[in-house]
Amino acid sequence: MAYSSDHSSSRKIDTKLIHFGAAFDKATGASSVPIYQASTFHQEDISNPPLHDYSRSGNPTRQALEDYIALLEGGAKGYAFASGMAAISTAFLILSAGDHVIVTEDVYGGTYRFLTTVLNRMNIEISFVDMTDLDQVKHALRPNTRAVYMETPSNPTLKITDIGAVTAWAKEHHLLTMVDNTFMTPYYQRPIEMGVDIVLHSATKFLGGHSDVLAGLAVARTPEIGAQLKHLQNGLGTVLGPQDCWLLIRGMKTLAARMNHSEKSTAKLAQWLNERDDIEAVYYPGLESHPGATIHASQSSGAGSVLSFDVGSGERAKKVLDNVQIPLVAVSLGAVESILSYPATMSHAAMGEGVRKERGITDGLLRFSVGLEDIDDLIADLEQALQE
Ligand SMILES: *Cc1c(COP(=O)(O)O)cnc(C)c1O
Repeated sequence: MAYSSDHSSSRKIDTKLIHFGAAFDKATGASSVPIYQASTFHQEDISNPPLHDYSRSGNPTRQALEDYIALLEGGAKGYAFASGMAAISTAFLILSAGDHVIVTEDVYGGTYRFLTTVLNRMNIEISFVDMTDLDQVKHALRPNTRAVYMETPSNPTLKITDIGAVTAWAKEHHLLTMVDNTFMTPYYQRPIEMGVDIVLHSATKFLGGHSDVLAGLAVARTPEIGAQLKHLQNGLGTVLGPQDCWLLIRGMKTLAARMNHSEKSTAKLAQWLNERDDIEAVYYPGLESHPGATIHASQSSGAGSVLSFDVGSGERAKKVLDNVQIPLVAVSLGAVESILSYPATMSHAAMGEGVRKERGITDGLLRFSVGLEDIDDLIADLEQALQE
């Protein structure tokens, strides 16, 4: 029987994650795509050049990964970058001097830094708005507005943007729409199916899943937008190397199993935290009490495995960070091991104290990315850390 590599789009995502076209090597039948550790490719006949001629412009291992993410997101074309920020900054360079872009106010810290210290010097204007409120998005429209950039759920307070509503409005005004889909991954949320033009990922997080590779991915809804991204990727040289492409493919194959396990655990942890009266707030879109829960459930098939909670003071937060024994205390998220982070001094250190507190990023806020450990062990560990 022929081994089927048919990656027909009618299949469910769990199947696509395993059978994605380049899941095995066509030349030898090897069960994984080879790492094509080559910068250039011999041209037997220069009037008939090979598919790939130089690895910045294209590499077979990278191609396998790029086709894989395009399939998962349901887009026309995928591109792999050296980091999430390489993917995001490259995508923003579709814009030109004089353009204006509307961005969610609680955008990832690195994106905020790029927009406010680099892109602004290119004479590109940026408006930060609360995207949970469609009226604020509409009010930000200017004659030179070209794009809308969303991130949902946002970091670290897990605010929810209505992707379909913002995208429908943006289309009326011929604006390019982009979504940072890092927290959900295509396993739970596929913005292109809602009409979004470009989906971006820090694949360093859930897609890679093992805290061992830094990578970014971009997916274009149409071949035309794909060609623009390709031109920028090649021009800027922000590509991902073949070793890291292979590692990322390896990690992505287990995405469904990891997401399911961690999400179940996170639901239990959220409930446990919610029932404690020494916790000021719990932010998790899977909790009914979350203000964006209904919209989130309408556009995502899961609530993911990142939550934040407020222990009341900076002093108490530091005690918890000192006393936990299982999670890594670190920046980053979306890995096999749980990661506890402290947004005030880690991911959101660059934000002024006033703005930070206004956005709910208080001194007592902790962010928990739930890994694959036994949830009862994680809860017991957190309980002892909270009691110290
Ligand atoms: C980590 C992260 C990024 C940046 O990705 P890098 O791989 O660290 O460059 C962008 N967006 C979100 C939501 C992230 O969590």
